[in-house]
Amino acid sequence: MSDATAKKEERHKFQAIKGTRDLMPPETELWNRVEQTAHEIFATFGYGEIRLPVFEETDLFARSIGLNTDVVSKEMYTFVDRPLEDLEKLKEQIITRPIGLVNITNLGIFDGEVEHFLSEVKPLFDREEISRSPENAAALRSVHLAHQEMRRLLLDRALSRPELQDPLVAQIVEIKNEMRKVLLGNVLTMRPEATASVCRAYIEHNMQQLPQPVKLYYMGPMFRRERPQKGRYRQFYQIGAEILGGTDAPGIDAEVIEMLMTFFDKVGLQGATLYINSIGHNAENCRRGYVAKLKAALEKVKDKLGPDSQRRIDTNPLRVLDSKLESEQAIIATLPHIADHLCDECKTHYAEVKRQLQVRGVLYQENWRLVRGLDYYMRTTFEITAPGLGSQNAVCGGGRYDGLVELLGGTPTKGIGFAIGEDRLILSLQESGKGQVQQGRDIYVAWMGEKAHATAIRAAKDLRKVGFSVELPPLEQKFGKALSQADKLGAKFALILGDNEVSEGLWTLKTLSTGEQSKFSEPDLLEFLRQQKNVSS
Ligand code: ATP
Ligand code: MG
Repeated sequence: MSDATAKKEERHKFQAIKGTRDLMPPETELWNRVEQTAHEIFATFGYGEIRLPVFEETDLFARSIGLNTDVVSKEMYTFVDRPLEDLEKLKEQIITRPIGLVNITNLGIFDGEVEHFLSEVKPLFDREEISRSPENAAALRSVHLAHQEMRRLLLDRALSRPELQDPLVAQIVEIKNEMRKVLLGNVLTMRPEATASVCRAYIEHNMQQLPQPVKLYYMGPMFRRERPQKGRYRQFYQIGAEILGGTDAPGIDAEVIEMLMTFFDKVGLQGATLYINSIGHNAENCRRGYVAKLKAALEKVKDKLGPDSQRRIDTNPLRVLDSKLESEQAIIATLPHIADHLCDECKTHYAEVKRQLQVRGVLYQENWRLVRGLDYYMRTTFEITAPGLGSQNAVCGGGRYDGLVELLGGTPTKGIGFAIGEDRLILSLQESGKGQVQQGRDIYVAWMGEKAHATAIRAAKDLRKVGFSVELPPLEQKFGKALSQADKLGAKFALILGDNEVSEGLWTLKTLSTGEQSKFSEPDLLEFLRQQKNVSS
């Protein structure tokens, strides 16, 4: 093997990370159309766009989505931000400093290091540059207290009093143990969804002082470490909307769903089915009572369930209803239904949501097993499935989450929202043939000769100004070559400009699909093309 080939083989071939992908033309045209439709439809319902950061403090997601959900327990991309190298070293030194020889020299160094560490960490903690999580705050406090106690013992001349030596050593051990727990950085997570971020922003920007409710929508990438397959990626895209504040009147739920279905209709999604359910009020007794009954019923059939469902009996029993395992379906069919356990308020709310959906002409199916995977949902839940997606057929999930803003430290606030899986929506549109996008240029400008070049540049500029997609080759080409190039690019027309055409003031336009050719004066040509565009759009 020659050196050169060896080098070549060594060279790493970069590839997109598993579960992520490049979206490219012409497909991105479809993505843009879908997103544009969302901007337009949501605006007609009074929503404004919010653009959120793609990473947040891990706790924001852990607390809102819930520790026992799949998302938080195994799917989050989490990392420690900016480990502080010098402090990290100091921490290591303190932890590993031998204390076998408790003497004044050793202790003096140890004390100085701890003192230095604490004084460095305090401002970082205050500036939120290191995690302010309760665990981190507690560890720091413990280090501080043990350090104070160690000093007090030293002032008591512990070194020369044998009875104080054990307590002294105990404080040193305590300092080291607690210091191990201190995290010198922030724990951040790539957002797995955006509802928690919207609520965080609502609180952070005092949006409760705006006229209520506040209606926001977002779009962008989300990140979950899942097994990649059709319709399931590690970086995927959601378009979502949230209504925060104001009332929990069923009219809000119904309108959110109406907006969603209007959007799906407008993008041309066919065969979408809307499923709805009410999972009751979590703080009140109806949901809690139901969960207890469900748990009891599940315990009885535990042996017949798979390991995932068995685990969920304790951690997240509602989630068992969500199971897609064939072998569990017959068992799940026998479990108690939440509808039979709703309190009167929840029952009335749900009935009114359904009535208003009918008034709005929105078709739905009830699905008592629809519980949604995340902890924060209550009362109305809904999901939309679409054809052509195999088992990943949910294109949208949503529901009411009245407790969430309060859970995140805000004032009690009503909330409801949804998230559309944009990747799956696009797949379904493509499968049903609704994903066609206009491909190719409108006009290819075939020019030859210096005079013609200047005219071609001007023509391209004018045509682009009125919205045509124009290809202007940078180098002169023989007309034959130019026309075959125009064909390859899928151009509809070729505008032929040779020096003859330019001096005559008559330009030749060739319709590439028919081979037809006609001559036009410059203004006539523009007019003709404009008319063509109006016909096709
Ligand atoms: P699923 O049951 O399919 O895992 P989910 O309940 O985890 O969905 P949500 O958190 O409700 O999904 O997100 C809303 C929508 O986002 C889903 O209906 C789906 O269309 C889409 N979605 C969720 N996870 C992924 C993913 N990994 N890849 C592509 N789309 C996804
Ligand atoms: Mg999921």
